[in-house]
Amino acid sequence: MDLHDSPEDLAFRQEVRDFVAANLPDDIRAKVLGFLRVEREDYVRWQRILAGRGWGAPGWPLEHGGCGWNAVQRNIFEEECFSAGAPRQMPFGLSMIAPVLMKYGTPAQKERFLPRIVSMDDWWCQGYSEPGAGSDLASLKTRAERHGSHYVVTGQKIWTSFAQWANWMFALVRTDASGKPQRGISLLLIPMDAKGITVRPIKTLDGGHDVNEVFLDGVQVPVENLVGEENDGWTLAKYLLGHERTAIAGLGMCKRLLRRLKEVARVQTKHGHPLIQDPRFRDRIAKIEIDVLAHEWSLARLVSLEQAGRGLGAEPSMLKIRGSEIQGELGELLMECAGPYAVPFLDEATVFGFDGPTAGGVELNPLAGLYLDLRKVAIYGGTNEIQRGLIGKSLVAL
Ligand SMILES: Cc1cc2nc3c(=O)[nH]c(=O)nc-3n(C[C@H](O)[C@H](O)[C@H](O)COP(=O)(O)OP(=O)(O)OC[C@H]3O[C@@H](n4cnc5c(N)ncnc54)[C@H](O)[C@@H]3O)c2cc1C
Repeated sequence: MDLHDSPEDLAFRQEVRDFVAANLPDDIRAKVLGFLRVEREDYVRWQRILAGRGWGAPGWPLEHGGCGWNAVQRNIFEEECFSAGAPRQMPFGLSMIAPVLMKYGTPAQKERFLPRIVSMDDWWCQGYSEPGAGSDLASLKTRAERHGSHYVVTGQKIWTSFAQWANWMFALVRTDASGKPQRGISLLLIPMDAKGITVRPIKTLDGGHDVNEVFLDGVQVPVENLVGEENDGWTLAKYLLGHERTAIAGLGMCKRLLRRLKEVARVQTKHGHPLIQDPRFRDRIAKIEIDVLAHEWSLARLVSLEQAGRGLGAEPSMLKIRGSEIQGELGELLMECAGPYAVPFLDEATVFGFDGPTAGGVELNPLAGLYLDLRKVAIYGGTNEIQRGLIGKSLVAL
């Protein structure tokens, strides 16, 4: 297995690098690399720039308007965009509901929704989790009752990322409560402007507002918005989660945080010498850099297996766990570098940057928010404990 770029891959890498350098707007790059808050409009603008180049849907086959790239090319593209400071392409439409529509959607659903995902005319959110149904998703209770040409949906979703920006939600709903919990679930596409929907923000510890509660009170959803068969939504849900997990190895984020750590470790503050001068702290930076490198090679190995057509087993779970651990550790090292400067945490700093005396020209204030924000990586997309359970099961099955 050769994990190095071939000459063709190197040429492709350069092409992507040149395009991103020439087309990524400076204001967006500055926000992303400064770990400031990226707004809806920033994500949409960048997505449309990519779509204009024909790169709006890197993971899709050509027949649906995608790039038709192989696993190695997709990985190169993601890596180059990330390290140049591009915002991530929102996964909810592109890599969650789109693959499901391609496999299980009706021709009318494909025609209606897929192009608008690439152009980001629609912003999708994921309505899976409920109070009491997170890891144990099959116990979800949001009801959908069929009344003629409509379902009437009543219940509550929680932790719905970016529901405040979304105009569509793909949601798991219960259409039959009589049998095994996994049996009576269906997947519905719900317009967020439908009567009876209320979105309530959940303000997180970092001061940010990414997640929400979504209340559905007698929401009417046309029957043609059902994806796949009624009561067979669990099959679709599992298919979708498989796509979600491969996307959260978080390598780009690890590299970005490592770069930031080296920068912040050089800062001279009033409270002591820069930590980079401390051999023990330097050792810790070296160790985490080795961890990031190992993570990169693990991802390359996974990509090469995928490229060879081998089905993925527990590997995405391993990468998810490792990526979240490394991000958490980098967040802690960054906080240690900033010392007391990281403690006073102004929410505004995550939007506008640090508005006060900077230490050595480096803004330290948003670091506290970043540290708190990074706690979530071990939870979303299936918690690390659940991933460990999946790894365990795959070993038992050997
Ligand atoms: C930032 C963020 C964004 C999110 N975005 C979305 C979104 O857009 N859409 C959406 O639907 N959901 C979203 N989620 C929800 C996420 O998928 C759930 O939080 C996650 O599945 C865990 O569910 P829970 O919070 O109900 O915790 P629980 O399932 O109640 O788990 C509580 C604790 O128990 C542990 N645990 C539970 N079961 C087991 C088990 N069998 N073995 C070992 N340990 C176990 C868990 O690991 C965890 O530590 C998001 C979550 C976060 C934090």
